[in-house]
Amino acid sequence: MIPFAEARQFVLDRCEPLAPAERSLNDALGAVLAFDAVAAEAVPPFANSGMDGYAVRAADVAAAAEGRPVRLRVAGTIAAGAAPDIAVTPGVAVRIMTGAPIPPGADAVVMVERSERVGDNEVDLTQAAPFGLHVRAAGDDVPAGTQVVAAGTRLHPAHLGVLASVNIRRPMVVPRPRVGVISTGDELVDDGRALAPGQIRESNRPTLVAALRSYGFDAVDLGTVADDHHALTQALPAAAAAYDAVVTSGGVSMGDFDLVKVVLEELADMRWMQIDIRPAKPFAFGVLNGTPVFGLPGNPVSSLVSLSLLGVPGLRRRAGRADLDLPQVTARAGSGLGRRPDGRTAYLRVRCRWADGGLVAEPVGQQGSHHLAATATANALAVLPDGDGVAEGGQVTVVLLHDPFVT
Ligand code: AMP
Ligand code: MG
Repeated sequence: MIPFAEARQFVLDRCEPLAPAERSLNDALGAVLAFDAVAAEAVPPFANSGMDGYAVRAADVAAAAEGRPVRLRVAGTIAAGAAPDIAVTPGVAVRIMTGAPIPPGADAVVMVERSERVGDNEVDLTQAAPFGLHVRAAGDDVPAGTQVVAAGTRLHPAHLGVLASVNIRRPMVVPRPRVGVISTGDELVDDGRALAPGQIRESNRPTLVAALRSYGFDAVDLGTVADDHHALTQALPAAAAAYDAVVTSGGVSMGDFDLVKVVLEELADMRWMQIDIRPAKPFAFGVLNGTPVFGLPGNPVSSLVSLSLLGVPGLRRRAGRADLDLPQVTARAGSGLGRRPDGRTAYLRVRCRWADGGLVAEPVGQQGSHHLAATATANALAVLPDGDGVAEGGQVTVVLLHDPFVT
Protein backbone atom coordinates (compact mmCIF):
# COMPACT_ATOMS: atom_id res chain seq x y z
CA MET A 1 0.00 0.00 0.00
CA ILE A 2 1.16 3.52 -0.68
CA PRO A 3 0.36 6.53 1.51
CA PHE A 4 -2.62 8.59 0.43
CA ALA A 5 -0.52 11.77 0.34
CA GLU A 6 1.82 10.14 -2.18
CA ALA A 7 -1.06 9.10 -4.43
CA ARG A 8 -2.54 12.61 -4.28
CA GLN A 9 0.80 14.20 -5.12
CA PHE A 10 1.32 11.77 -7.99
CA VAL A 11 -2.03 12.90 -9.44
CA LEU A 12 -1.33 16.60 -8.90
CA ASP A 13 2.07 16.36 -10.58
CA ARG A 14 0.36 15.07 -13.72
CA CYS A 15 -2.65 17.35 -13.89
CA GLU A 16 -1.37 20.41 -15.73
CA PRO A 17 -3.61 23.51 -15.72
CA LEU A 18 -5.49 23.96 -18.99
CA ALA A 19 -4.32 26.68 -21.35
CA PRO A 20 -6.18 29.99 -20.90
CA ALA A 21 -8.85 30.71 -23.49
CA GLU A 22 -11.46 33.38 -24.13
CA ARG A 23 -14.93 32.66 -22.86
CA SER A 24 -18.16 34.59 -23.02
CA LEU A 25 -19.36 35.75 -19.63
CA ASN A 26 -22.25 33.31 -19.78
CA ASP A 27 -19.76 30.49 -20.12
CA ALA A 28 -17.24 31.63 -17.54
CA LEU A 29 -18.95 30.72 -14.26
CA GLY A 30 -16.51 28.81 -12.07
CA ALA A 31 -13.58 29.37 -14.44
CA VAL A 32 -10.37 30.90 -13.11
CA LEU A 33 -9.51 34.37 -14.42
CA ALA A 34 -6.19 34.28 -16.27
CA PHE A 35 -5.31 37.98 -16.06
CA ASP A 36 -5.71 40.97 -13.75
CA ALA A 37 -8.93 42.61 -14.95
CA VAL A 38 -8.49 46.40 -14.88
CA ALA A 39 -11.35 48.82 -15.49
CA ALA A 40 -10.79 50.96 -18.57
CA GLU A 41 -13.95 52.91 -17.68
CA ALA A 42 -15.40 54.27 -14.46
CA VAL A 43 -18.48 52.64 -12.97
CA PRO A 44 -20.86 54.37 -12.90
CA PRO A 45 -19.65 56.30 -15.94
CA PHE A 46 -21.41 59.52 -14.84
CA ALA A 47 -22.96 60.96 -11.68
CA ASN A 48 -26.52 59.67 -11.49
CA SER A 49 -29.50 59.59 -9.23
CA GLY A 50 -29.86 56.84 -6.62
CA MET A 51 -33.57 57.54 -6.25
CA ASP A 52 -36.67 58.46 -8.19
CA GLY A 53 -37.21 62.09 -7.13
CA TYR A 54 -36.15 65.64 -7.87
CA ALA A 55 -32.69 66.87 -8.72
CA VAL A 56 -32.11 70.11 -6.85
CA ARG A 57 -29.50 72.51 -5.55
CA ALA A 58 -28.94 71.59 -1.91
CA ALA A 59 -28.89 75.27 -1.00
CA ASP A 60 -32.44 75.70 -2.33
CA VAL A 61 -33.96 73.07 -0.04
CA ALA A 62 -31.86 73.70 3.08
CA ALA A 63 -34.93 74.99 4.94
CA ALA A 64 -37.35 72.27 3.80
CA ALA A 65 -38.91 69.95 6.42
CA GLU A 66 -42.08 68.00 7.05
CA GLY A 67 -44.86 70.61 7.25
CA ARG A 68 -42.49 73.33 5.93
CA PRO A 69 -42.24 72.67 2.20
CA VAL A 70 -39.99 74.54 -0.17
CA ARG A 71 -41.65 75.21 -3.52
CA LEU A 72 -39.54 74.89 -6.72
CA ARG A 73 -40.34 75.19 -10.42
CA VAL A 74 -40.11 71.86 -12.29
CA ALA A 75 -38.12 72.44 -15.47
CA GLY A 76 -38.55 68.96 -16.97
CA THR A 77 -37.94 65.24 -16.55
CA ILE A 78 -34.80 63.13 -17.08
CA ALA A 79 -35.25 59.39 -17.52
CA ALA A 80 -32.55 56.73 -17.20
CA GLY A 81 -30.75 56.63 -20.54
CA ALA A 82 -31.51 60.28 -21.36
CA ALA A 83 -28.89 62.98 -21.70
CA PRO A 84 -28.91 65.56 -18.84
CA ASP A 85 -29.84 68.50 -21.01
CA ILE A 86 -31.97 70.46 -18.53
CA ALA A 87 -30.05 72.78 -16.21
CA VAL A 88 -30.97 73.22 -12.57
CA THR A 89 -30.73 76.89 -11.71
CA PRO A 90 -31.72 78.58 -8.42
CA GLY A 91 -35.38 77.92 -7.65
CA VAL A 92 -35.57 75.05 -10.13
CA ALA A 93 -35.96 71.27 -9.73
CA VAL A 94 -35.84 68.56 -12.38
CA ARG A 95 -37.85 65.38 -12.06
CA ILE A 96 -35.28 62.54 -12.19
CA MET A 97 -35.45 58.74 -12.26
CA THR A 98 -33.08 56.24 -10.66
CA GLY A 99 -29.98 55.88 -12.83
CA ALA A 100 -30.60 59.07 -14.82
CA PRO A 101 -27.67 61.49 -15.09
CA ILE A 102 -27.60 64.36 -12.61
CA PRO A 103 -28.31 67.52 -14.61
CA PRO A 104 -25.89 70.46 -14.63
CA GLY A 105 -26.31 72.67 -11.58
CA ALA A 106 -27.92 70.01 -9.38
CA ASP A 107 -26.00 68.60 -6.45
CA ALA A 108 -28.60 66.57 -4.53
CA VAL A 109 -31.77 64.55 -5.04
CA VAL A 110 -34.92 64.66 -2.91
CA MET A 111 -36.79 61.40 -3.13
CA VAL A 112 -40.25 61.44 -4.62
CA GLU A 113 -41.77 60.25 -1.34
CA ARG A 114 -40.85 63.67 0.13
CA SER A 115 -42.53 65.67 -2.66
CA GLU A 116 -45.94 66.86 -3.71
CA ARG A 117 -46.70 68.21 -7.15
CA VAL A 118 -48.40 71.60 -7.31
CA GLY A 119 -50.08 71.99 -10.68
CA ASP A 120 -48.09 71.03 -13.75
CA ASN A 121 -44.98 73.07 -13.16
CA GLU A 122 -44.23 73.18 -9.47
CA VAL A 123 -43.35 70.86 -6.63
CA ASP A 124 -43.29 71.12 -2.83
CA LEU A 125 -40.32 69.37 -1.26
CA THR A 126 -40.38 68.51 2.44
CA GLN A 127 -36.83 67.27 2.94
CA ALA A 128 -33.61 69.19 3.34
CA ALA A 129 -31.17 67.40 1.04
CA PRO A 130 -27.55 67.88 2.07
CA PHE A 131 -24.99 68.25 -0.71
CA GLY A 132 -24.64 64.91 -2.56
CA LEU A 133 -27.74 63.22 -1.11
CA HIS A 134 -28.81 60.30 -3.36
CA VAL A 135 -26.17 61.26 -5.92
CA ARG A 136 -24.02 58.33 -7.07
CA ALA A 137 -20.74 59.88 -8.17
CA ALA A 138 -18.93 58.79 -11.33
CA GLY A 139 -16.50 56.01 -10.41
CA ASP A 140 -18.15 55.51 -7.02
CA ASP A 141 -18.31 51.72 -7.62
CA VAL A 142 -15.12 51.37 -9.70
CA PRO A 143 -12.78 54.27 -10.50
CA ALA A 144 -11.27 54.02 -14.01
CA GLY A 145 -7.88 52.33 -13.97
CA THR A 146 -8.44 50.16 -10.92
CA GLN A 147 -8.18 46.37 -10.79
CA VAL A 148 -11.62 44.80 -10.36
CA VAL A 149 -10.82 41.07 -10.31
CA ALA A 150 -7.37 39.58 -9.74
CA ALA A 151 -5.80 36.86 -11.85
CA GLY A 152 -6.41 33.48 -10.22
CA THR A 153 -9.90 34.37 -8.98
CA ARG A 154 -12.53 31.70 -9.50
CA LEU A 155 -15.37 33.57 -11.14
CA HIS A 156 -18.59 33.72 -9.13
CA PRO A 157 -21.80 35.23 -10.49
CA ALA A 158 -21.11 38.76 -9.23
CA HIS A 159 -17.58 38.68 -10.70
CA LEU A 160 -19.15 38.09 -14.11
CA GLY A 161 -21.35 41.13 -13.59
CA VAL A 162 -18.37 43.23 -12.49
CA LEU A 163 -16.48 42.25 -15.66
CA ALA A 164 -19.52 43.19 -17.74
CA SER A 165 -19.77 46.52 -15.91
CA VAL A 166 -16.27 47.45 -17.07
CA ASN A 167 -16.88 46.15 -20.60
CA ILE A 168 -14.78 42.97 -20.35
CA ARG A 169 -17.12 40.64 -22.20
CA ARG A 170 -14.79 37.82 -23.26
CA PRO A 171 -12.28 37.35 -20.46
CA MET A 172 -9.28 35.04 -20.75
CA VAL A 173 -9.87 32.24 -18.27
CA VAL A 174 -8.55 28.81 -17.44
CA PRO A 175 -11.68 27.03 -18.67
CA ARG A 176 -13.71 24.60 -16.63
CA PRO A 177 -12.30 21.15 -17.50
CA ARG A 178 -14.54 18.95 -19.64
CA VAL A 179 -14.54 15.51 -18.11
CA GLY A 180 -15.64 12.35 -19.93
CA VAL A 181 -17.17 9.75 -17.60
CA ILE A 182 -17.11 6.05 -18.49
CA SER A 183 -18.41 3.04 -16.58
CA THR A 184 -16.91 -0.38 -17.19
CA GLY A 185 -18.40 -3.78 -16.48
CA ASP A 186 -20.16 -6.60 -18.34
CA GLU A 187 -22.76 -6.78 -15.58
CA LEU A 188 -24.05 -3.23 -15.99
CA VAL A 189 -27.48 -2.40 -17.39
CA ASP A 190 -28.41 1.26 -17.95
CA ASP A 191 -31.37 1.14 -20.33
CA GLY A 192 -34.22 0.04 -18.07
CA ARG A 193 -34.57 -3.51 -19.39
CA ALA A 194 -35.24 -6.47 -17.10
CA LEU A 195 -32.11 -7.77 -15.44
CA ALA A 196 -30.75 -11.08 -16.70
CA PRO A 197 -29.06 -13.32 -14.13
CA GLY A 198 -25.87 -11.69 -12.90
CA GLN A 199 -26.73 -8.24 -14.15
CA ILE A 200 -27.11 -5.09 -12.04
CA ARG A 201 -28.24 -1.52 -12.65
CA GLU A 202 -25.52 0.88 -13.59
CA SER A 203 -25.35 3.63 -10.96
CA ASN A 204 -21.89 5.15 -10.99
CA ARG A 205 -22.30 7.39 -14.00
CA PRO A 206 -25.25 9.38 -12.70
CA THR A 207 -23.42 9.76 -9.39
CA LEU A 208 -20.06 10.75 -10.84
CA VAL A 209 -21.43 13.02 -13.57
CA ALA A 210 -23.54 14.87 -11.01
CA ALA A 211 -20.74 15.04 -8.45
CA LEU A 212 -18.38 16.47 -11.07
CA ARG A 213 -20.94 19.03 -12.16
CA SER A 214 -21.65 20.01 -8.58
CA TYR A 215 -17.92 20.65 -8.19
CA GLY A 216 -17.94 22.95 -11.21
CA PHE A 217 -16.59 20.67 -13.95
CA ASP A 218 -18.30 20.08 -17.31
CA ALA A 219 -18.96 16.36 -17.03
CA VAL A 220 -20.16 14.36 -20.04
CA ASP A 221 -21.68 10.88 -19.79
CA LEU A 222 -19.82 8.59 -22.20
CA GLY A 223 -21.75 5.43 -21.41
CA THR A 224 -20.67 1.95 -20.39
CA VAL A 225 -17.80 -0.03 -21.91
CA ALA A 226 -17.64 -3.80 -21.57
CA ASP A 227 -14.86 -5.65 -19.77
CA ASP A 228 -13.28 -6.22 -23.14
CA HIS A 229 -9.70 -5.49 -24.07
CA HIS A 230 -10.52 -4.34 -27.57
CA ALA A 231 -13.45 -2.16 -26.54
CA LEU A 232 -11.41 -0.42 -23.84
CA THR A 233 -8.50 0.04 -26.23
CA GLN A 234 -10.87 1.95 -28.50
CA ALA A 235 -12.86 3.83 -25.89
CA LEU A 236 -10.13 5.18 -23.61
CA PRO A 237 -8.00 6.95 -26.26
CA ALA A 238 -11.15 8.30 -27.93
CA ALA A 239 -12.28 9.81 -24.64
CA ALA A 240 -8.79 11.10 -23.86
CA ALA A 241 -8.66 12.82 -27.24
CA ALA A 242 -12.04 14.50 -26.82
CA TYR A 243 -11.93 15.65 -23.19
CA ASP A 244 -9.64 17.46 -20.76
CA ALA A 245 -9.78 14.53 -18.35
CA VAL A 246 -11.37 11.09 -18.24
CA VAL A 247 -12.94 9.41 -15.24
CA THR A 248 -13.63 5.67 -15.43
CA SER A 249 -15.09 3.41 -12.79
CA GLY A 250 -14.47 -0.30 -12.36
CA GLY A 251 -11.79 -2.57 -13.69
CA VAL A 252 -8.87 -1.40 -11.55
CA SER A 253 -8.97 -4.06 -8.85
CA MET A 254 -7.51 -7.57 -8.58
CA GLY A 255 -10.13 -9.45 -10.63
CA ASP A 256 -9.44 -11.46 -13.77
CA PHE A 257 -11.57 -9.03 -15.82
CA ASP A 258 -10.22 -5.80 -14.36
CA LEU A 259 -8.98 -4.62 -17.73
CA VAL A 260 -8.99 -0.85 -17.32
CA LYS A 261 -5.67 -1.01 -15.54
CA VAL A 262 -4.32 -3.49 -18.10
CA VAL A 263 -5.26 -1.32 -21.07
CA LEU A 264 -4.06 1.87 -19.40
CA GLU A 265 -0.77 0.15 -18.66
CA GLU A 266 -0.40 -0.61 -22.35
CA LEU A 267 -1.51 2.76 -23.70
CA ALA A 268 -0.68 5.34 -21.09
CA ASP A 269 1.91 6.49 -18.64
CA MET A 270 -0.05 4.74 -15.89
CA ARG A 271 0.44 3.88 -12.26
CA TRP A 272 -1.74 1.38 -10.50
CA MET A 273 -1.96 1.95 -6.79
CA GLN A 274 -3.20 0.30 -3.67
CA ILE A 275 -3.72 3.28 -1.39
CA ASP A 276 -3.82 3.13 2.42
CA ILE A 277 -7.44 4.32 2.63
CA ARG A 278 -10.80 2.63 3.08
CA PRO A 279 -12.91 2.62 0.98
CA ALA A 280 -11.27 3.31 -2.41
CA LYS A 281 -8.03 1.38 -2.00
CA PRO A 282 -7.47 0.49 -5.68
CA PHE A 283 -6.83 3.38 -8.01
CA ALA A 284 -5.26 3.67 -11.42
CA PHE A 285 -4.03 6.99 -12.72
CA GLY A 286 -2.46 7.56 -16.06
CA VAL A 287 -1.77 10.21 -18.66
CA LEU A 288 -3.05 9.10 -22.06
CA ASN A 289 -1.85 11.26 -24.93
CA GLY A 290 -1.55 14.17 -22.51
CA THR A 291 -4.95 13.67 -20.87
CA PRO A 292 -5.22 12.59 -17.24
CA VAL A 293 -7.27 9.41 -16.76
CA PHE A 294 -8.66 8.65 -13.31
CA GLY A 295 -9.35 4.92 -12.99
CA LEU A 296 -11.68 4.84 -10.02
CA PRO A 297 -12.74 1.61 -8.35
CA GLY A 298 -16.14 0.21 -9.33
CA ASN A 299 -17.87 -0.10 -6.02
CA PRO A 300 -20.32 2.80 -5.94
CA VAL A 301 -19.21 4.25 -2.62
CA SER A 302 -15.54 3.73 -3.44
CA SER A 303 -15.84 5.53 -6.76
CA LEU A 304 -17.44 8.55 -5.10
CA VAL A 305 -14.88 8.67 -2.29
CA SER A 306 -12.04 8.24 -4.79
CA LEU A 307 -13.42 11.08 -6.90
CA SER A 308 -13.78 13.32 -3.85
CA LEU A 309 -10.29 12.70 -2.48
CA LEU A 310 -8.19 12.25 -5.63
CA GLY A 311 -10.28 13.36 -8.59
CA VAL A 312 -11.25 16.73 -7.16
CA PRO A 313 -7.70 17.96 -6.41
CA GLY A 314 -6.41 16.77 -9.78
CA LEU A 315 -9.26 18.35 -11.69
CA ARG A 316 -9.10 21.56 -9.66
CA ARG A 317 -5.41 21.81 -10.54
CA ARG A 318 -6.36 21.31 -14.19
CA ALA A 319 -8.91 24.10 -13.73
CA GLY A 320 -6.14 26.44 -12.56
CA ARG A 321 -7.37 26.56 -8.99
CA ALA A 322 -5.18 27.02 -5.95
CA ASP A 323 -7.69 25.58 -3.47
CA LEU A 324 -7.31 21.93 -4.42
CA ASP A 325 -9.15 19.86 -1.87
CA LEU A 326 -12.69 19.72 -0.61
CA PRO A 327 -12.91 21.68 2.63
CA GLN A 328 -12.02 19.89 5.85
CA VAL A 329 -13.42 21.10 9.15
CA THR A 330 -13.49 19.85 12.71
CA ALA A 331 -16.67 18.26 14.03
CA ARG A 332 -17.77 16.56 17.23
CA ALA A 333 -18.72 12.87 17.04
CA GLY A 334 -22.45 12.75 17.86
CA SER A 335 -22.06 9.05 18.53
CA GLY A 336 -19.08 6.72 18.43
CA LEU A 337 -17.27 6.56 15.08
CA GLY A 338 -15.88 3.06 15.33
CA ARG A 339 -13.34 1.27 13.16
CA ARG A 340 -10.78 -1.49 13.48
CA PRO A 341 -7.01 -1.06 13.05
CA ASP A 342 -5.94 -2.18 9.55
CA GLY A 343 -3.11 0.11 8.54
CA ARG A 344 -5.45 2.36 6.58
CA THR A 345 -7.21 5.68 7.07
CA ALA A 346 -10.96 5.12 7.10
CA TYR A 347 -13.34 7.62 5.56
CA LEU A 348 -16.64 7.02 7.31
CA ARG A 349 -19.74 8.40 5.69
CA VAL A 350 -21.33 10.81 8.15
CA ARG A 351 -24.11 13.33 8.30
CA CYS A 352 -23.05 16.67 9.77
CA ARG A 353 -25.48 19.13 11.28
CA TRP A 354 -25.13 22.36 13.21
CA ALA A 355 -25.76 22.05 16.91
CA ASP A 356 -24.63 24.27 19.80
CA GLY A 357 -22.49 26.45 17.54
CA GLY A 358 -20.56 23.62 15.95
CA LEU A 359 -20.77 20.67 13.58
CA VAL A 360 -21.89 17.33 14.93
CA ALA A 361 -21.13 14.22 12.83
CA GLU A 362 -23.30 11.09 12.96
CA PRO A 363 -22.40 7.95 11.01
CA VAL A 364 -24.99 7.10 8.35
CA GLY A 365 -25.34 3.43 9.17
CA GLN A 366 -24.19 0.92 6.62
CA GLN A 367 -20.57 1.62 5.74
CA GLY A 368 -19.81 -1.00 3.09
CA SER A 369 -18.33 0.15 -0.20
CA HIS A 370 -21.51 -1.04 -1.97
CA HIS A 371 -23.89 0.74 0.43
CA LEU A 372 -24.79 3.62 -1.85
CA ALA A 373 -28.25 4.18 -0.36
CA ALA A 374 -26.79 4.87 3.08
CA THR A 375 -24.07 7.02 1.52
CA ALA A 376 -26.72 9.11 -0.18
CA THR A 377 -27.80 10.35 3.25
CA ALA A 378 -24.25 11.50 4.09
CA ASN A 379 -22.88 14.98 3.52
CA ALA A 380 -19.33 14.44 4.73
CA LEU A 381 -16.55 11.91 5.24
CA ALA A 382 -15.13 11.51 8.74
CA VAL A 383 -11.37 11.02 8.52
CA LEU A 384 -10.41 8.27 10.97
CA PRO A 385 -6.68 7.56 11.15
CA ASP A 386 -5.64 3.96 11.69
CA GLY A 387 -6.77 2.82 15.14
CA ASP A 388 -10.05 2.31 16.96
CA GLY A 389 -11.95 5.39 15.85
CA VAL A 390 -13.36 8.29 17.82
CA ALA A 391 -15.56 7.98 20.89
CA GLU A 392 -18.82 9.89 21.24
CA GLY A 393 -18.07 13.56 21.92
CA GLY A 394 -14.54 13.34 20.52
CA GLN A 395 -13.16 15.64 17.84
CA VAL A 396 -12.99 14.40 14.28
CA THR A 397 -11.92 15.92 10.98
CA VAL A 398 -14.60 15.75 8.29
CA VAL A 399 -14.34 16.32 4.54
CA LEU A 400 -17.40 18.25 3.35
CA LEU A 401 -18.80 16.53 0.25
CA HIS A 402 -20.90 19.52 -0.71
CA ASP A 403 -18.34 22.28 -0.88
CA PRO A 404 -20.04 25.36 0.56
CA PHE A 405 -17.39 27.53 -1.08
CA VAL A 406 -18.28 26.40 -4.59
CA THR A 407 -20.74 28.47 -6.61
P1 AMP B 1 -14.92 -3.56 -10.12
O1 AMP B 1 -14.13 -2.43 -9.54
O2 AMP B 1 -15.08 -3.49 -11.58
O3 AMP B 1 -14.35 -4.88 -9.66
O4 AMP B 1 -16.37 -3.47 -9.50
C1 AMP B 1 -16.55 -3.59 -8.10
C2 AMP B 1 -18.00 -3.70 -7.76
O5 AMP B 1 -18.67 -2.53 -8.15
C3 AMP B 1 -18.72 -4.83 -8.45
O6 AMP B 1 -19.67 -5.37 -7.55
C4 AMP B 1 -19.41 -4.16 -9.62
O7 AMP B 1 -20.55 -4.85 -10.05
C5 AMP B 1 -19.77 -2.83 -9.02
N1 AMP B 1 -19.83 -1.79 -10.04
C6 AMP B 1 -18.85 -1.50 -10.91
N2 AMP B 1 -19.23 -0.52 -11.73
C7 AMP B 1 -20.48 -0.18 -11.36
C8 AMP B 1 -21.41 0.78 -11.83
N3 AMP B 1 -21.10 1.59 -12.85
N4 AMP B 1 -22.62 0.85 -11.24
C9 AMP B 1 -22.91 0.04 -10.21
N5 AMP B 1 -22.08 -0.88 -9.71
C10 AMP B 1 -20.87 -1.00 -10.28
MG1 MG C 1 -15.80 -4.63 -13.03
